[in-house]
Amino acid sequence: MRFIVDQTLGGLAKWLRLCGFDTIQKLIRLHDPTSLPAPDANTWILTRQTRLADRYPRQDILVVSADDPEVQLAEVMARFNLAATDFKLLNRCSRCNQPLVAVSKQEVRGRVPEYVYQHQHQFYECPACHQVFWVGSHVAAICRRLQALSPQRPGRESSESPE
Ligand SMILES: [Zn+2]
Repeated sequence: MRFIVDQTLGGLAKWLRLCGFDTIQKLIRLHDPTSLPAPDANTWILTRQTRLADRYPRQDILVVSADDPEVQLAEVMARFNLAATDFKLLNRCSRCNQPLVAVSKQEVRGRVPEYVYQHQHQFYECPACHQVFWVGSHVAAICRRLQALSPQRPGRESSESPE
């Protein structure tokens, strides 16, 4: 599953990437059909432009109604029946969507705050922008918020994978 979000959903794009989803951002203009990506069975287009869905009646265009990126994420999760357990945190750069690579502690010395260097042991780097990520309090806070947003699905079978 892959997402293309338009210019109205930059905040949501970052959240989706933080959750590990392949998410690219694209300028989509209502009056320019060439700006609309070609349909792809595995790709969903997310937008806040309600008129886009009216003008181009395609099943792969999903209009998100909330203003707040966290609520938008909850909307997308509900639409695709996703739970926090479907997320892969620290898998993708939130800025450029590149898959992160694990790097050794020595490699990040001087590139992360000293406190983080002393207390964290697993680090990841974006091969494109070279930002360093780690399982710190920030990610823990994201996990808690995502779990709070996540619909409760007791008894879910592990074989029930989302499409
Ligand atoms: Zn990056």
